[in-house]
Amino acid sequence: MSDEEKKPPEAEEKKEAEPAAEKPKPPSPEEMAAALAAFESAQKGEEGAKGKPGDKAGGDKPAEDKKPAEDKKPAEDKKPAEDKKPAAKKPAEAKPKGRPPVVRFDHVTKTYNPGRRNAFTAIKDVHFTVEDLPDKGEFVCLLGPSGCGKSTILRLIAGLEPQHPPTEGKVEVFGESVDAPGADRGMVFQSYTSFDNRTVLRNVAFGLECRGVGRKEREELAREWIDKVGLSVKHDAGKYPHQLSGGMQQRVAIARTLILHPKIILMDEPFGALDPVTRVQMQDLLVNLWRSQEATVFFVTHSIGEAVYVGDRCYLLSRSPGTILREVKVPLPDRPALEMQKDPHFQEVVYELSEQVHRMEQEQAEAE
Ligand code: ADP
Repeated sequence: MSDEEKKPPEAEEKKEAEPAAEKPKPPSPEEMAAALAAFESAQKGEEGAKGKPGDKAGGDKPAEDKKPAEDKKPAEDKKPAEDKKPAAKKPAEAKPKGRPPVVRFDHVTKTYNPGRRNAFTAIKDVHFTVEDLPDKGEFVCLLGPSGCGKSTILRLIAGLEPQHPPTEGKVEVFGESVDAPGADRGMVFQSYTSFDNRTVLRNVAFGLECRGVGRKEREELAREWIDKVGLSVKHDAGKYPHQLSGGMQQRVAIARTLILHPKIILMDEPFGALDPVTRVQMQDLLVNLWRSQEATVFFVTHSIGEAVYVGDRCYLLSRSPGTILREVKVPLPDRPALEMQKDPHFQEVVYELSEQVHRMEQEQAEAE
């Protein structure tokens, strides 16, 4: 028996055997939003996802959320150069005429549990604009001490609860106020949360299935993406998540997101659980894929080396409640990660940022 034939959910098998099921009605925008919200919730392993496409297909469940140790710092974070020079450069950016910004935060504050004893303000007065540059998506990194609100910002862009809605201020995507998750935004999390009863092929094709794309077309595209993220169509497409290494699992997560061509890719510590060698390989893969996507990436990481490598620019956040302290233009990833990390200018930028983040973390620890 081939891997593909292994234990797919019966209801889904039945559904896919019926030719009529291959030509579903295009979903309405409301159905799409609900499906994608459910998709995001399922990725996060949250309960209570409504209208999940898996429901009609027979109850897909995301694989267990394997949370790695939070504080695992990658080797590339360690400071190198002795000489510290300011890395900050004012970004010289032409504001494109007539195109709404990709994302705009207008003095956004988020307080969790407002009005209660345990009310907590995670971000305060966060204000920034990422313009929609013609034919070029930016790679924006969010950096700052642990707990300063980086994930809160990312999830506000995604429109995911309970981060959404903001307590004060406005979050806009392409000029529209964010009111829910949408097909223009795709998310990759640190922990691999795929559907454990779906093969790699069917995991990668999942979002297309939500969109009502027929089986043949979606599986063809899924095979292309399996190849693009460096997995083997022949050897890996029929495997189940538990048969994959952490790096392979994140390749699946990236393929599953990018196959949908979101205009905005939101990545929350996507490589945080990987060993340093795999992590560097994944950074190179991501940079290469991003170049061909023309999407804007928002990337949260604790690794300053990683941010400086993959990013175009970084927003450095203050300690909690997070607010943007400065914007840093970082060297473009024009070489493979390992090579770039030897560059003295690269090392200076990493060192300078590391020092600032470290200082904020110390202040936070002393304040607590
Ligand atoms: P970061 O990504 O920078 O580590 P987060 O955005 O995850 O920070 O969290 C910022 C702060 O908000 C943390 O102190 C965290 O404990 C708190 N926080 C996050 N989510 C919630 C929530 N749903 N309810 C209450 N507090 C939360």
